[in-house]
Amino acid sequence: MSKPTSIDLLGTSSLHVDRAREAISILVKELIREANQTPNKDDVETVLLELALNRILSADLLSTIDVPAADNSAMDGFAFKGKEVDHGKAGNATLRVVASAFAGKPYMGSIQDGECIKIMTGALMPAGCDTVIPQELVTVSDTLEGQTISFQQNIVKPGENRRLRGEDLQMGKPAILAGRLLRPSDLGMAASLGIDKLTVQRKLKVAILSSGNELRSIGEQLDAGSIYDSNRFSLIGMLKRLDLEIVDCGIVRDDPIALKEAFCQAAQKADVLISSGGVSAGEADFTKQIMEELGDVGFWKIAMRPGRPMAFGTLKPLPGKTLSRKTLFFGLPGNPVAVMVTFYQFVRAALLQLNGATQTKVPTVQALSTAPIRKKPGRTEFQRAILGRNEQGQAAVSITGSQGAGILRSVSEANCFVVLAHEQGNIAAGDWVDVVLFDGLL
Ligand code: AMP
Ligand code: MG
Repeated sequence: MSKPTSIDLLGTSSLHVDRAREAISILVKELIREANQTPNKDDVETVLLELALNRILSADLLSTIDVPAADNSAMDGFAFKGKEVDHGKAGNATLRVVASAFAGKPYMGSIQDGECIKIMTGALMPAGCDTVIPQELVTVSDTLEGQTISFQQNIVKPGENRRLRGEDLQMGKPAILAGRLLRPSDLGMAASLGIDKLTVQRKLKVAILSSGNELRSIGEQLDAGSIYDSNRFSLIGMLKRLDLEIVDCGIVRDDPIALKEAFCQAAQKADVLISSGGVSAGEADFTKQIMEELGDVGFWKIAMRPGRPMAFGTLKPLPGKTLSRKTLFFGLPGNPVAVMVTFYQFVRAALLQLNGATQTKVPTVQALSTAPIRKKPGRTEFQRAILGRNEQGQAAVSITGSQGAGILRSVSEANCFVVLAHEQGNIAAGDWVDVVLFDGLL
C-alpha cells in the first residue's frame, strides 16, 4: 500500500461489521476534507423544485416568509375578543354574530363588545379578535336583532383555537437544513414558501463493473460454466434509488491488463467505483496486485454473512482527471445476494455521506420470528424475510426459503432483511429480531 491510512489499522482477521462501517466513514470524511481544500463551484447546482427529489440540499433553506403569514382560525366557529369570557366562571356567554370571515375572504371591519364573527378554518383573525369557539360548542339562535350564539364561557380560554403568525416557521429561520436528502414533504415545504428552485449537491458519478471470466451479457450465448451478469443490474437498480449518475463499465475479464484499464477509466471519470467479483480468497491476489499500483486499497474479511470478502479504499487521481477528489473504491463480493447486502450495509451510507447528507442511517424495527433461525455467534447475518402480522396482530417475520449467498430469489421474494447481531446465537420461534425494511414510503 502506498501510504498508511485508517484502513490499514484493521489487520487481516475477521472484521466486525460496525468496525468496517466506521473505517469507511473515517475515510469518506478524509476525502471530503481534502476536497474542501480545493472547493469547486461545480459541486453544487440549482435545480427546479420538481427535479429536486432525492437530491441533497447543499445550504440551509431559509424561510422567506412567516408561516402562517398572519393569525388565523384553527377551527370552523366564531371569533371574538377573549375578554368576553371569564374562564373561571360558570354561566353562559352570549354574542351577536355581525359578519362572516372565510379563508381567502377576510372580514376587514371592526367589532364591538358583545359581538362575534362567524369564521372558517384558515380565515384571517378579524382585527380585535383573538379567540375562536368551535361551532359544535355553541347554540345558534335567530332573534329579531339577528343571529346570536351562546356557549358555556368556561369551555374556551382567551387565545384558543387561533394559529399565530410565524407559529410554524419564522421569516429568516431555516426551514430545511443543509444535508437533507430531499423528500416529497420537503418539496411541498419549499413550495409553501414560494421557492421554486433549490441548490443541491451535484449528482455523484458512480462507475460500476462486473469482473469474472464466467460472466456473459444478456443476449450472449451461455456456454458451459458461464452465467449472465446480474450484479450490474442489481447495482443499477440500487443506485437509481439514490438518483446518482451511473457510468456503466460493463463486464471485465479476469485479466490484469483488462482490469487495470477498466479501473483506470473509472478512476478518471467517477467519484466512486463499485466492482463486484474478484475479491474472494482465490482471486484477490490478482486484484491486489493491480490495486497496489493504482491506489490505496485494503482487502477485508468481514465477519458477516453473506458478504465476507470486500475490498475498500481509494484510487489515485489520474492525470487529466476532471473531478477534484480521489475515487472511492468498493470491491464487492461476486455473489449476487452478497452484492446487495454489502451495498446496503456499507456503500449506500458512504455515497450519501460523500455527497454531504447528514442522515445516512436506515431505521430498524423489531418483529417476532415465526420460526427458529440457526445462527453462529461471531458474525452479523442478513437474512431475507417477509414482514407481516401474526394472528395476534403482532409484527412477525418469516425467512424466504434458502438463504445461500447466490440465491437472488431470497431477496426478490422478501420485503426486509432480518439482521442478526454479531454476538447473537440461534433464534427460537417467537424471539424478537431486528428488521430493516426494503421500502420506505416517503
Ligand atoms: P467471485 O467473488 O468472483 O469469486 O464470485 C463469487 C460467485 O459469484 C461466483 O459463483 C460467481 O460466478 C458469481 N458472480 C460473480 N460476479 C457475478 C455477476 N456479475 N453476476 C452474477 N454472478 C456473479
Ligand atoms: Mg470471480
